[in-house]
Amino acid sequence: MGQAKDRGTSEDRIAAAIRRRAVAHPPVIHCNCCKAELSNIGAADTSRLKGIEIAFSAHCAACDQDTWAVRGDIAAVKAFYAALEKAAGQAVQLGTAKPHPHLDD
Ligand SMILES: [Zn+2]
Repeated sequence: MGQAKDRGTSEDRIAAAIRRRAVAHPPVIHCNCCKAELSNIGAADTSRLKGIEIAFSAHCAACDQDTWAVRGDIAAVKAFYAALEKAAGQAVQLGTAKPHPHLDD
């Protein structure tokens, strides 16, 4: 008992459990362009991304745009978006992901 070495492993397990639960209950994502609610939400594999808890992307067929919703450490999320922008060659907007639709603008 009391094996400190296992700490990383149990954190990985917790992270995996959070991912599984989140994948089973994806958030509501609205298109960054037309604000339509997107239903084809896919979870990205973030197991190799330190600090990223979960990442979803949803594609809007009308705009031909992907909207991302990422949760995790602020610095890690910023780095994730920077990598996305580099890959896309253009600015990537933070998506809107909320448990319930909510008008605040
Ligand atoms: Zn759209």
